[in-house]
Amino acid sequence: MNAFSFYNPVKLIFGKDQLAKLTNELSPYGKKVLVVYGGGSIKRNGLYDQVMANLKEANMEVFELSGVEPNPRLSTAIKGAELCKKEGIDVVLAVGGGSVIDCTKLIVAAAKYDGDAWDLVTRKAIPTEALPFGTVLTLAATGSEMNSGSVITNEETLEKYGWGSPHVFPKFSILDPVNTFTVPLDQTVYGIVDMMSHMFEQYYNNATNTPVQDEMIEGVLRAVIDAGPKLVKDLENYELRETVLFAGTLGLNGFLQMGYNGDWASHNIEHAISAVYDIPHGGGLAIVFPRWMRHNVKVNPARFAKMATNVFGVNTEGKSVEEVAYEGIDKLAAFWASLEAPIKLADYNIDDSKIDLMVEKAMVYGPYGNFNKLNAEDTKQILTACL
Ligand code: NAP
Ligand code: FE
Repeated sequence: MNAFSFYNPVKLIFGKDQLAKLTNELSPYGKKVLVVYGGGSIKRNGLYDQVMANLKEANMEVFELSGVEPNPRLSTAIKGAELCKKEGIDVVLAVGGGSVIDCTKLIVAAAKYDGDAWDLVTRKAIPTEALPFGTVLTLAATGSEMNSGSVITNEETLEKYGWGSPHVFPKFSILDPVNTFTVPLDQTVYGIVDMMSHMFEQYYNNATNTPVQDEMIEGVLRAVIDAGPKLVKDLENYELRETVLFAGTLGLNGFLQMGYNGDWASHNIEHAISAVYDIPHGGGLAIVFPRWMRHNVKVNPARFAKMATNVFGVNTEGKSVEEVAYEGIDKLAAFWASLEAPIKLADYNIDDSKIDLMVEKAMVYGPYGNFNKLNAEDTKQILTACL
């Protein structure tokens, strides 16, 4: 393991009917609340009405920002930050999936920054403070509800980057599996792919001697692999939604990344794809990750073989370590395909015409990936394999 310090101040409030705790959590921060949400799913499933009833009962003064896009856009975050400044907002409440939460993180940081909000994403400026915010999560996937990261798309320059700051940890996050019942089948699958990808990114790390972390990641992955196929056939099953929701949070709240840096190359490549083509993050990862794995087996075949045996149940008898490793990757690809995740870029009508542009986007901060550093040529090979 490498030396590490761990910090995660998010209060996680998990379970049925926990929305009842919302106003107790919000009120210490003030009366003026900005509620941020997406394209209307919370209006259709009744969560909006429940949240508003709670806020009204607590006599909070409510402002709203709706229409946060999947792959949230810079312009929307700027709109939110301006609203916060103009109205003197005390606290922000994100009600939605990772996109709404990520957008809210930029809103609260930009509300306390006088320059261009994009500076915060590109690390030209480091946030020194932010408005407080909480979340009511509606989709199991990103872990954004319990981390300090955010991914924002600049729709003018076609750039999509992750950024983060200790100032944008949510103060609290309320996770009721019931609020994820209405997530449609495709988004449910993208969420499963995303959370599994987070665990893979961390498993393929730059450290040795990580048996505890390996057991944790392998265990959470096995739970998701067990629940996923049942959930896609039974979208309103409380226990299955609960399992997947909890797994998504654990997948990226820092618990599984103590003692090393994860790889994160596949996320970087996916961000480059969705910056150019605006495809769902989980859909892109389902295409990229098996190709990234095949590209990197030779870096450490034993690592891939360990995943293959412990998570995908590959039988090792009479096989070389590399054969086991490749079989595990095939099993992963088959698992995602069985959930009807996309399997190649052509599924999104993406051809090779903008490969060089995507390579350029992926390379913007130079060679990347902590398990294996990738350069432009590697990136092009992986993207070509994705076609
Ligand atoms: P999302 O983009 O937040 O939501 C996807 C879609 O699901 C939206 O159309 C949304 O509709 C709908 N939806 C959400 N909850 C629903 C519900 N309960 N019922 C019905 N529909 C619902 O999806 P996400 O996967 O959570 O977030 C993806 C974003 O997070 C990407 O931009 C990705 O790059 C980023 N990400 C962030 C992190 C991080 O740590 N911060 C990690 C990985 C990925 P409405 O808009 O109508 O609500
Ligand atoms: Fe992700």
